[in-house]
Amino acid sequence: MVELSSPVWQTLSEGREAAHRMQALLEGTAAVQPTLEALGAELSHQLSWYDATAYVLPHLAKLFPRLSMEEQVCCVVSMSAAIAAEAAWPLTPGTEAHREFQEGLTGLRPPMAALLTDPAVHALLRGGAAEEGSMFALGALAILGDRRHAYDLWWLSSSLWEMLSAACVCGWEEEELDCAEASCIQPAAPAPWDGTSLEREDVWLHGFLERVGDETLRPVLPLVYGMGVCPACGRREPYWSWLHRWQEEA
Ligand SMILES: [Zn+2]
Repeated sequence: MVELSSPVWQTLSEGREAAHRMQALLEGTAAVQPTLEALGAELSHQLSWYDATAYVLPHLAKLFPRLSMEEQVCCVVSMSAAIAAEAAWPLTPGTEAHREFQEGLTGLRPPMAALLTDPAVHALLRGGAAEEGSMFALGALAILGDRRHAYDLWWLSSSLWEMLSAACVCGWEEEELDCAEASCIQPAAPAPWDGTSLEREDVWLHGFLERVGDETLRPVLPLVYGMGVCPACGRREPYWSWLHRWQEEA
């Protein structure tokens, strides 16, 4: 963990402000939820990667157990996109930033898993703002699951998960594949979630969203975890491969 007084914060994009906010949170001199929201907004502007995120995470992991359940949920929602963005600009192993990022994730995983499987959290999100459940779920995915999938689902959120982008090696591509008519994707059948197992992210993600009453992100999950069959050449591959090819070529 790099101390908040270290000169390194001055060299990080958004670092000076992030260290200031983190200091106030740890000292208990700032209103928790507005400060977490401001921190998250600064570190996840338009799904960009800010290197201050890596340095913030160990401090957030230290703060996390002191927060109330509502504040912990706010923390995950606020930091969801900032953490997911690392998948698109992966940190280099061996660097200080990579070590900080991994240390933060290691600290956040156990309380994140407890939060995700807590029926009181499900009830809180079911009664909250509609998008909060999906943003929390993507934060959980970024911390506990495949971070690239969390980034991808954030990326697809611009259409509220009504449209999917896809590209096949043969040259066939579709920028706005309507989810309601996506017959070229064989959907994955969602298996029931027992509310505790976190072994399969497609299962817990779907089950969690069901429990919090989400009707925007959940319906698209069978498609994004499904298998694409190219309408032009018949080649089969996971939808995620179609999306990654589209993102690389766009
Ligand atoms: Zn094809």
